[in-house]
Amino acid sequence: MHPDKPESWIPSTDAEAQPRQVRRIVGLFRPYRGRLAVVGVLVGASSLVSVATPFLLKETLDVAIPEGRTGLLSLLALGMILSAVLSSVFGVLQTLISTTVGQRVMHDLRTAVFGRLQRMSLAFFTRTRTGEVQSRIANDIGGMQATVTSTATSLVSNFTSVVATIIAMIALDWRLTVVSLLLLPVFVWISRRVGNERKKITTQRQKQMAAMAATVTESLSVSGILLGRTMGRADSLTRSFADESEQLVDLEVKSNMAGRWRMAVITIVMAAMPAVIYWTAGVALQFGGPDVSLGTIVAFVSLQQGLFRPAVSLLATGVQIQTSLALFQRIFEYLDLPIDITERTDPVHLDQVKGEVRFEKVAFAYDDQGGPVLDGIDVTVPAGGSLAVVGPTGAGKSTLGYLVPRLYDVTGGRVTLDGVDVRDLDFDTLARAVGVVSQETYLFHATVADNLRFAKPDATDEELYAAARAAQIHDHIAALPDGYDTVVGERGHRFSGGEKQRLAIARTILRDPPVLILDEATSALDTRTERAVQEAIDALSANRTTLTIAHRLSTIRGADQIVVLDAGRLAERGTHEELLERDGRYAALVRRDASLEPTR
Ligand code: ADP
Repeated sequence: MHPDKPESWIPSTDAEAQPRQVRRIVGLFRPYRGRLAVVGVLVGASSLVSVATPFLLKETLDVAIPEGRTGLLSLLALGMILSAVLSSVFGVLQTLISTTVGQRVMHDLRTAVFGRLQRMSLAFFTRTRTGEVQSRIANDIGGMQATVTSTATSLVSNFTSVVATIIAMIALDWRLTVVSLLLLPVFVWISRRVGNERKKITTQRQKQMAAMAATVTESLSVSGILLGRTMGRADSLTRSFADESEQLVDLEVKSNMAGRWRMAVITIVMAAMPAVIYWTAGVALQFGGPDVSLGTIVAFVSLQQGLFRPAVSLLATGVQIQTSLALFQRIFEYLDLPIDITERTDPVHLDQVKGEVRFEKVAFAYDDQGGPVLDGIDVTVPAGGSLAVVGPTGAGKSTLGYLVPRLYDVTGGRVTLDGVDVRDLDFDTLARAVGVVSQETYLFHATVADNLRFAKPDATDEELYAAARAAQIHDHIAALPDGYDTVVGERGHRFSGGEKQRLAIARTILRDPPVLILDEATSALDTRTERAVQEAIDALSANRTTLTIAHRLSTIRGADQIVVLDAGRLAERGTHEELLERDGRYAALVRRDASLEPTR
């Protein structure tokens, strides 16, 4: 595959896709319609209230003060205070509701992405960098926080304010309105330009952050450090990290500056506007123009100042929305990833699985370009029987094992379980029927008990102990200070390779699957550990159909059937004795193995 091109599988999107994307974003908010309607009402109410103030101001200046009407003056002043109180209260409520809705939407997206990724095939994860996935969930969804919590509502609220204010301005004096609106197109123009530029920068920035996150996860892990140190590459890794970080500096500066220039221009214009209005009204009065009362001019200027704040935010909202469209696009790409291994619409459910596994003319290729990894494989493992697969590295042994639990699907022929094509089985049946113990034992950073219970959440303590005993690890766990509550992992207790394997075996014993795929460890264990692991494996494979991918021959003599794979084809098959008798490849492998390990 292309590990250096982690995003090669992402389809490129074009500008025409935007309306569809916007509809899709709107769709995310659909479940919260009710609450959003309340926000709408609050928004309308609060803009009405704030537009009322300048009219109160006009009455104060033109009537109450000149005519000395104290009663009216008090009422008007109270009215102004009340309107400030009301619009603040509405604002708080509105923020509360819209933040809740926004956070819910983010939660929905996060879980949707996580759920989608859980269903992706192994193939997806082998070709995607780990940090990449984390970054999408953390940075991209985190990055849209502002948009989904506040921007959507402030968009509506600012729009309503602008419309209400303009109507109020026209009601006061339409000529001054025309003058003051002349500058609006300039804003729009600047804002659009910045918006486009920012969107581009944001996409780049998110990519850069994802790349950095991937570098961090890859190189700042136990195995990453181990590799970097021992290869003497620590400095060069630091340098390349520094390069990536440096690029981020540029992008961040650019993205911030795009907004700063626009703000500077807008601030100047905002300061200039009242001056222009006073000047226009004053000149008009001096030259016998239409009679505009002082109250009207002051009220107008206050309205106008009230207009620019929402107008500016409205335009900023536009920029923000553009920005987060880019983020949404990245999230949607994840949600739209094709799931290549799916359950059939009417899958077969088996209550009881006996465990006969049959490969029929199985062929498999990892990708179209590469040649077949497996070809013409025909083997039957009867229920409860055992099959050992041997052969040189790269022959396709592990791949054969992957096909049974459908970690990959065959590209030709079929694999059946109790006579049913595994692709026709429901996932539940398959997961109950097939257990995998692989070379890479994976334990969570959690207690031993939690790790074991991952296989069977409702297992009793006695069941845990029994499984651990069968896997030859109970005594070891019980001797630890915290026993089964010992935390496994980097910051917890370090189990050795052999111990981890036995924990993994105990986990599978708990799960009790009728079919077992054993991808044997390649790493040599010391004789005592190996014996313990072997006993654990024997306990595990008793009464189960077992398919052992054998990397060492010492362990498979007892297998009912042995097949030798070579370059994806079945080269030989038979029992240990039959194959020795034939004196072919297997016999050669055994001789070589024996010469390597003369003690056995
Ligand atoms: P074995 O277990 O016998 O050592 P594998 O089944 O691991 O062999 O691999 C068989 C062949 O498939 C090898 O040539 C290997 O390079 C290739 N292969 C394994 N995994 C992948 C993958 N995820 N993508 C592409 N090719 C792969």
